[in-house]
Amino acid sequence: MIEVLSNEKHKARKEHVCYFCGDTIKKGTVYNRQDGKFDGDWYTVKTHISCSELAVKLDMYDNGEDGLTNHEFRDIVNEKFEELLPEFEMKTTFRSRLDVVKMQVLFGEES
Ligand SMILES: [Zn+2]
Repeated sequence: MIEVLSNEKHKARKEHVCYFCGDTIKKGTVYNRQDGKFDGDWYTVKTHISCSELAVKLDMYDNGEDGLTNHEFRDIVNEKFEELLPEFEMKTTFRSRLDVVKMQVLFGEES
């Protein structure tokens, strides 16, 4: 059971790693920090603003009460990529698939 206690934007005083995509959150950039309890234990999840926005846009937080894991995040991004660009067949890296999905979902025209 997950209990989110705070969800805030912070400015990175040092580099962090985004929990969702695994890429670096650069020093000096604003990132999303979530603190909460999972089965009674404290946890902190740091993510890129764009990664958490993507998770919200794609309703990733709706599946279950265990929160959103980075595996689920990747699965959903991969599924969305296939849906958007079926002809690409997953040949690219996860990073570039994520970029395409972010561009389409966050900045693209929703049809
Ligand atoms: Zn990220």
